[in-house]
Amino acid sequence: MVKKYSLPDLPYKYDALEPHISQEIMKLHHDKHHLAYVNGANAALDKLDNGRKNSWQGVDIKAVERDLSFNLAGHVLHSVFWPNMKSGGGGSPGGKLADSIKEDFGSFDAFKAQFGAAAKAVEGSGWGLLVYDPTSDQLITMQSEKHNLLASQTSVPLLVCDVWEHAYYLQYKNDRGSYVDAWWNVVNWEDVDKRLEKARQ
Ligand code: MN
Repeated sequence: MVKKYSLPDLPYKYDALEPHISQEIMKLHHDKHHLAYVNGANAALDKLDNGRKNSWQGVDIKAVERDLSFNLAGHVLHSVFWPNMKSGGGGSPGGKLADSIKEDFGSFDAFKAQFGAAAKAVEGSGWGLLVYDPTSDQLITMQSEKHNLLASQTSVPLLVCDVWEHAYYLQYKNDRGSYVDAWWNVVNWEDVDKRLEKARQ
């Protein structure tokens, strides 16, 4: 019995993040793009199941594992991305998250500048990430190209900014920088703080 991935509901209405992210973008992004990653990951699992049953005859396992990595990482990151945002978000974090950001980046402004620079500079399609690194018990910024490249295996994503063109092009055209700057206005810091608390347990 192969376990399957499923598309989570958006935790708010499609227009909740306006004017910063339009209803049209949110609907396409969640209902079409995220769903495609869920379906792609499930299709890869089916191919692996099929391979096991047929002694790997006729199965290009390298291609299937590549598909699984790409689509599963896409599903996981979008599943963090939606609750990372909310209507009336923005501002700055409180709680342990605020303390950790100050400790690991010097100040919230220094963190914001670093994260923004990383997100804006992703080569091609990808993500800007704030992750918890359990190996060193600290917060670090990272980039992902596509969804899965440049990843560190044990890092836990806490705050993720999708900088694929599908995340902003309908509203911001090719101006990724303005999209990332506006995106800070919808960040749900309580969600990020909860993820850090869970990751540290
Ligand atoms: Mn996306």
